[in-house]
Amino acid sequence: MLPFSRVAVIGLGLIGSSIARGVRQHMPSVRVTGYDADPAVRETAVRIDLCDDIADTAGTAVIDADLVVLCVPVGAMGAVAAEIAADLPADAILSDVGSCKESVIEAVRAALPDAVFVPAHPVAGTENSGPEAGFASLFHHRWCIITPPEGTEPLAIERVLEFWRRLGAEVETMEPAHHDRVLAVTSHLPHLIAYTIVGTASDLEEVTASEVIKYSAGGFRDFTRIAASDPTMWRDVFLANREAVLDMLQRFSEDLTALQRAIRWGKGDELFELFSRTRAVRRSIIDSGQDDARPDFGRSHD
Ligand code: NAP
Repeated sequence: MLPFSRVAVIGLGLIGSSIARGVRQHMPSVRVTGYDADPAVRETAVRIDLCDDIADTAGTAVIDADLVVLCVPVGAMGAVAAEIAADLPADAILSDVGSCKESVIEAVRAALPDAVFVPAHPVAGTENSGPEAGFASLFHHRWCIITPPEGTEPLAIERVLEFWRRLGAEVETMEPAHHDRVLAVTSHLPHLIAYTIVGTASDLEEVTASEVIKYSAGGFRDFTRIAASDPTMWRDVFLANREAVLDMLQRFSEDLTALQRAIRWGKGDELFELFSRTRAVRRSIIDSGQDDARPDFGRSHD
């Protein structure tokens, strides 16, 4: 049996529009209502026939939903929760897709203390945003982490897990604080590093901008994909997951200093040992089906 029959998606960007498309593809009898604060996004959603209905307010979008998924930047979750407070049906399950969980749980709870809230984070995305960037297969074979606060009804958790399984995701449950530490190192820190490298290269005076672009295949271009990610989303993630990110950044800076020392003192063995370990990590990611095994991310070299 389907876990829900009327789903409201608030925020129709990359993730929200991918959920809408995924529901229509994998659960075609489920009614999907969408809402986005941006009128231009709502217009696009109507034009591309993203949902069964596009509402004019967040309240009308949720009024008869049995699942509401908040797909807005993490800094906007509290405000959206307050916007739907008067219209959220008492028996509806509220969920979200925010990239960090403790701060979102706190913000949503403050606005909706009695709602059945089952937070989730699909660990899937691209560097693109907006309603036209989404696609139904975005979550296929990707992990979706559910982080229910203590005391959440087991049946509500199971329904949200089943929803994500039906979208093609692998599912896992985790404590919110642990989630935030894991994602700080697997996602937030890599984004910070990419933003830094691309920023540094574009500020260099002795290397021209055209040289940076021309010779980017040396490695730089792979960082630019991550550094092209949505500025609002990532600003919010760093502010919301500050403690865990600063902690991981401290560890990273220490390791970077050790590497700097190894280079300065010509300790080739140390460098070789580290680079061999990191190569093995890449192999494990491919073996677990989380990336393409083809060289150079499968780019064509014709
Ligand atoms: P996105 O493409 O920028 O879409 C977010 C949409 O939400 C935008 O259309 C935005 O409108 C709208 N919005 C902002 N504030 C709103 C409000 N108060 N009420 C209604 N709509 C509002 O972003 P996304 O990549 O889908 O990210 C959405 C959420 O998914 C974030 O919490 C993010 O942390 C999480 N997430 C993202 C990824 C990823 O790789 N992108 C992966 C996993 C989870 P405006 O254009 O007017 O701002």
